[in-house]
Amino acid sequence: MDYAYDDQNIFAKILRGEIPNKTVFENDHALAFHDIQPQAAVHVLVIPKGPYMSLDHFARDASATEQAGFFHAVAAVCDLMQLDEGFRGISNTRVHGVQDVPHYHMHILGGQQLGRMLLD
Ligand code: 5GP
Repeated sequence: MDYAYDDQNIFAKILRGEIPNKTVFENDHALAFHDIQPQAAVHVLVIPKGPYMSLDHFARDASATEQAGFFHAVAAVCDLMQLDEGFRGISNTRVHGVQDVPHYHMHILGGQQLGRMLLD
């Protein structure tokens, strides 16, 4: 698998401050912000600050410190957005997963009943 990271993707631009975002949480290794086109009452994206394209790339090549920082941010979002009743974490990946932005991100969706994961 060739993980050739394109630093012109929209989330890389957000990380460089070239595009504004509505930040929910930030630490040394991750940024969480509201999705520009929310698909649920709560729709937050959590991204690592490092140049990783996808969940499998991040799982394979990110350091333990980067991974811990990322998951700490996921937990912080759940607390801040009061997702005690549950949520869905989604990481669309490449073509079959219909990933539009080639910088690893986890969608955190919640704040309402979401229904079944896949309809067909
Ligand atoms: P994907 O299809 O790659 O899993 O999801 C990409 C997500 O990024 C989409 O839900 C889309 O609405 C969101 N998105 C795309 N461009 C921007 C942007 O400029 N700002 C924010 N906050 N979200 C964006």
